[in-house]
Amino acid sequence: MRDRPAASRQAESALLRGALDVLDDAIVVVDPTGKFVSWNRTAARLVGVPVDASPEAWTEAFGVFFPDERTPCPTESIPLWRALQGERVEDVELYVKNPRAPQGIHVLASARPILGEQGRVRGGVVVFRDVTLAKVAKAALGHAEARMRAIVSNTPNIAIEGYDLQGRVLYWNRAAERLFGWSEDEVVGKTLDGMMLDTPSTAKFVETLEEIARTGMPNGPNEWSCYRKDGSQVWVYSTIFSIPTITGACEFVCMDVDVTPLKHAENRIREQAQRMEAQATDNANLFHEALEAISARDDFLAVASHELRTPLTPLKLQLERLVRDARAGAHQERLAPALEVAYRQVGRLAALIDRLLDVSRITAGKLDLCLDEIDLCALVHDVVTRFGREIEDAGCQLSFPHDKPILGTWDRLRLEQVVTNLLGNATKYGRGKPIEIGLEADEGTVHLTVRDHGVGIAPEDQGKIFERFERAVTNQSFGGLGLGLWIVRQIVETHGGAVRVESAPGKGSTFQVELPRWRRTLDESQGPLSISQGT
Ligand code: ADP
Repeated sequence: MRDRPAASRQAESALLRGALDVLDDAIVVVDPTGKFVSWNRTAARLVGVPVDASPEAWTEAFGVFFPDERTPCPTESIPLWRALQGERVEDVELYVKNPRAPQGIHVLASARPILGEQGRVRGGVVVFRDVTLAKVAKAALGHAEARMRAIVSNTPNIAIEGYDLQGRVLYWNRAAERLFGWSEDEVVGKTLDGMMLDTPSTAKFVETLEEIARTGMPNGPNEWSCYRKDGSQVWVYSTIFSIPTITGACEFVCMDVDVTPLKHAENRIREQAQRMEAQATDNANLFHEALEAISARDDFLAVASHELRTPLTPLKLQLERLVRDARAGAHQERLAPALEVAYRQVGRLAALIDRLLDVSRITAGKLDLCLDEIDLCALVHDVVTRFGREIEDAGCQLSFPHDKPILGTWDRLRLEQVVTNLLGNATKYGRGKPIEIGLEADEGTVHLTVRDHGVGIAPEDQGKIFERFERAVTNQSFGGLGLGLWIVRQIVETHGGAVRVESAPGKGSTFQVELPRWRRTLDESQGPLSISQGT
């Protein structure tokens, strides 16, 4: 290489000097003995350069300390000195305080040996920069972060969690640990799937995070249902928002308030409201039933008064005629038939009144049975005999081809009532047609059937005719109170038996009564049996 002209070298050196002076970094060059050879303006401005100071005096001359600002930095630790020893020194922080830098500054220094031929050290160079402000800023940042962390982790009743865009936990405060039962260590880096949320809810959570990232708008407060570590359910009111990170990615903060007690209270109130609603419906139904019962009672009173009046009118006429005839001295032959009619009408009235009395007794649960050993076959014969005239008037032929005694423990009068009611109905609804009574018995049970060939009963009415006041015919076509079969059922069931009907409209009806013959529970000391209130 040819030597350049001196003028050119001078110009180059001036340019280099100028370049070094405009740098923000300080540069100082020493020869192998540590004598200061060159330094730029920034070095002079920051710390000054005590040109006469030998390396042993640098600590004091520059005022060099370790970063704790108290401990003097010995010469052998000063980067420039270490460079003179052949070492490459990287980013060593020191504190410099001297008359030029009376406030003291923190510097970050790197130094290199300047090597000559065969690697001999020809000098050293140090480059350093004032990092006081950066250090203060870093400390302030650290403090701010520590303060933030302290606030987050000590917030007592709000669970605060950080998430990344994939829904992985970044941090988790103590309130979150208390609320969900998972420690921060257990959850950081994981998604909530299978821990606090099921898979669909986790997907919804991640969708919510994506939405927040897209719009920049916070989400909530919304109600989320999660699971604690122990598997119990917890409800939280969550607000989720995003904060930008220095890398430009999104970090999400989720703040949860536990509303489980409120939720339970809400559920209790809802259940109570439902119960009250059901109660109100029940009351409305009861009210409705009461109205229906009142209406049924009014109907019954109308029918009952009509029924009671029906025999009264001819009876009154008969009695008037009798009185007239008797006053006129009429003969016994003339009076007897009229008296018979009157007697029958009185009997009918008495039967009606008995029936009404039965209803009130049964309804009050006071139908007592006086059980006795009786012959049912003889009992039926008695009733049939008493019915003779009525059966004849109705134009029916009756067959009861049984005469073998059938013994059992029953209430005679009540069973007479059963047979009377069934036979009465067969006569009433089967006028002009035959009536057959059947009686069969095995060891424990007796079966009584009363078959007619009259109007019959529609299938839809067959279930209800055994209820109180239920009739399958109109008052215009057949009189009646709708009580006979109900009383039959009550008596039969009180005896431990059952009654049913088989019938078809226009084809007649067969009523079947099944009675146990012997009451196993019968005990003389128990006295008469009572029935509970019937429907
Ligand atoms: P009532 O005969 O006074 O109306 P019951 O309780 O004895 O009351 O009978 C209830 C209803 O059953 C009757 O109104 C009638 O419609 C029907 N019923 C009862 N017995 C017969 C029968 N043998 N044939 C047809 N219908 C009958």
